[in-house]
Amino acid sequence: MINKNFKRLPQSYLFQELAQKKNKLVSEGHDVVALGIGDPDLETPKPIRQALSKEVIRRYHKYPDSEGILELREELARYYQKRFRVKLLAENVLISFGAKTDLFDAVRVFSNIGDVIAVQDPAYPVYENSILFEGRDIKYLPCNKDNNFMPDYSVLDKDVAMVYLCYPNNPTGAVASKKYLQELIKSLKQINALLVFDIAYADFGPAEAPSIFSIPGAKDVAIEFGSFSKPYSMTGYRLSWSAIKNKELLDAWIKFRNNRDSGCSNYIQKAGIIALQNKEVENIAKKNMKEYRKRARVLQKGFESLGLEVYGLAHTPYAWITIPKGYTSRDFAEKLLQEAKVLITPGSGFGPSGEGYVRATIFQSEQRIKEAVKRIKNLYPL
Ligand code: PLP
Repeated sequence: MINKNFKRLPQSYLFQELAQKKNKLVSEGHDVVALGIGDPDLETPKPIRQALSKEVIRRYHKYPDSEGILELREELARYYQKRFRVKLLAENVLISFGAKTDLFDAVRVFSNIGDVIAVQDPAYPVYENSILFEGRDIKYLPCNKDNNFMPDYSVLDKDVAMVYLCYPNNPTGAVASKKYLQELIKSLKQINALLVFDIAYADFGPAEAPSIFSIPGAKDVAIEFGSFSKPYSMTGYRLSWSAIKNKELLDAWIKFRNNRDSGCSNYIQKAGIIALQNKEVENIAKKNMKEYRKRARVLQKGFESLGLEVYGLAHTPYAWITIPKGYTSRDFAEKLLQEAKVLITPGSGFGPSGEGYVRATIFQSEQRIKEAVKRIKNLYPL
């Protein structure tokens, strides 16, 4: 009676499992420093909240248009021009209620049973879970410090129908250069595979992180998903977009969306317009990024002082940290949680190549990050 592919999924969703473990300890009275889940702690900028409350008290909330409010789509087209120097029409941008949903749905819209889908390893778990759930085959593209966390695309062959990539990357923090992406797009054209490009962290660091549409030739072999969640502390709003330039791909996505859902609430979208338009929001977002950069330096120094190697951080809210010898990433994360009451994410939760690492976020104050490091130090020698 139940879809048999559920059996292919991990026992529980990684971040749900972490939240439950943390909640249990908190309910027992423990003070847990949570560096596990990527949920911004800094408040949503006030003009966004004000726009939402102004809209939400309207007497009627009719079905939204599943493609999104035109004004927001136009605003995003302007964002692409300003941020990436990419020309997009409003009709190439569709509004959605979270990149997570779109990234999960991409498999069923753009591939068929029996297809092989390649995924960065380690990666945001949603890609892999969707591939498994939709009954496709998976090909891991290992990313490690030896290849600067950039997968070797020469291993892609004609069996591969689709590839998931995320840059700036969760969890490793790596950023793809335009040159790398140019070569990748050339390879994908040769094998006729679609690139699903995730830019949820494009605005999270000083890097010139490109949109895939900054790359010549990407139009017909790539689609892109972006999100309001992290740069504007809007994770709870559920607001994101997809950018698709190729007409056939765009029509398929629109057809899917029209059948599958009734769009994102208009009042949330109105708040999104303010996020992109309002000068005060821009200033707050800049100030928040400065704060995050400061925390990143504290976290980096702290974990390095524990004798561990720290990657990432410059362009994402994540540190990708090596673990001491003699532990699996799950054992090490469990030890830190139970004995130091510090929650971090085991690297193996992001894929086989994540073994040997843990991921920590900067979504806690400087003081709490220092506290976490102090508690871990007290466990030494491990
Ligand atoms: N893509 C990546 C790489 C993420 O890490 C996340 C959330 O952590 C998302 C997408 C989800 O974004 P949204 O909040 O828009 O669903």
